[in-house]
Amino acid sequence: MSVTAAPDAAHITYHGADFEALRRQDPQIAEVILGELGRQSDSLQLIAAENFTSPAVLAALGSPLANKYAEGYPGARHHGGCELVDAAERIAVERAMALFGAQHANVQSHSGSSAVLAAYAALLKPGDTVLAMGLSYGGHLTHGSPANFSGRWFDFVGYGIDADTGLIDYEQVRTLARHHRPKAVVCGSISYPRHPDYAAFREIADDVGAYLIADAAHPMGLIAGGAAPSPVPYADVVCATTHKVLRGPRGGMILCGAELAERIDRAVFPFTQGGAQMHTIAAKAVAFGEASTPAFSTYAHQVVANARVLADGLAAEGFAVLTGGTDTHLISADPAPLGVDGKTARGRLAAAGLVLDTCALPYGDGRGIRLGTAAVTTQGMGEAEMARIAVLLAAALRENVKARAEVLEMTRRFPPYPG
Ligand SMILES: *Cc1c(COP(=O)(O)O)cnc(C)c1O
Repeated sequence: MSVTAAPDAAHITYHGADFEALRRQDPQIAEVILGELGRQSDSLQLIAAENFTSPAVLAALGSPLANKYAEGYPGARHHGGCELVDAAERIAVERAMALFGAQHANVQSHSGSSAVLAAYAALLKPGDTVLAMGLSYGGHLTHGSPANFSGRWFDFVGYGIDADTGLIDYEQVRTLARHHRPKAVVCGSISYPRHPDYAAFREIADDVGAYLIADAAHPMGLIAGGAAPSPVPYADVVCATTHKVLRGPRGGMILCGAELAERIDRAVFPFTQGGAQMHTIAAKAVAFGEASTPAFSTYAHQVVANARVLADGLAAEGFAVLTGGTDTHLISADPAPLGVDGKTARGRLAAAGLVLDTCALPYGDGRGIRLGTAAVTTQGMGEAEMARIAVLLAAALRENVKARAEVLEMTRRFPPYPG
């Protein structure tokens, strides 16, 4: 691919990332990259947090914007020569605000965890109490794990779920909020397959004078496509990743109202981060552009339709599907009725080319499995394929060797990067 730049740079011809040159210079790393592309192409990526970015996003990521130092924000940088990367960041911010209907967007967070760290830094002081979903019910590391800054620096209280329904028990959340008087309430999870009731969380936060932080790292792409409710009208701060269902580059973002804009921006830079990654920010802009198209909305709705069929198929095969199904791209299930725990299941499924994660189970200390439909839907698979994948998951658990061959055949019909 060869591109000639705009009129004022008509002498520039850019040939894009040159893989052949990399292969000549560094065959060791080239082999890893090719091998990984082969692995991604020859197995089914059912990890709920993964997706396939577009070639356009990859092109922006592998561009010379990676060379630019840009501490600060557009128009107020600590380095010279930032005029063009400023334009990229302004475009990314404007697109994010328009896409999610937010008054302010910060697109500099290096990851979802960095976004949450910045949100806490903007709103809290060390030692403050925070109410979030307990880690054994699906809370993220940044929601109070003792191994993470969150658990070390803040006093986290965990809410759970109703033991019978598997759903968030909002009365329990309210009771805990009234008892512990948190400075912030966090909603969002890594494995809860239902929509949080953002209005209920807002009301509970208001009741005790707490901030509401929505950690929408998982559903942000569904929200962009209109396939999930948005926390933006309810939460003081919305944190997200750009690489899950949203299908952009690996990174984070933060949305908030105008009144918190400056605090959030200062919490990202200079408080928790240094120079912005301008190639990633340009790639985020490309992804936001893609996510605002009707095709992406169709995609997001298909992701959910696919997850529903996959969840039903898993239940029919005997898996215990948590909450009885899903509203999102994500399914959490216990394979115990099939005679294996989550860890054994993950290994057997990986051997058949079915790649997924284990997850905490809200009961006992065994592990379940967590899977999602974002990546396979990007590959063009629909409900018929999901029904078949459910059958293959059960077959692979029984170590039926035919499963691997059929997975490979499916990947050939639906290559992630055709051509
Ligand atoms: C994925 C996720 C994160 C962290 O994102 P990273 O980019 O891995 O740091 C934070 N919170 C939730 C709820 C997530 O699902």
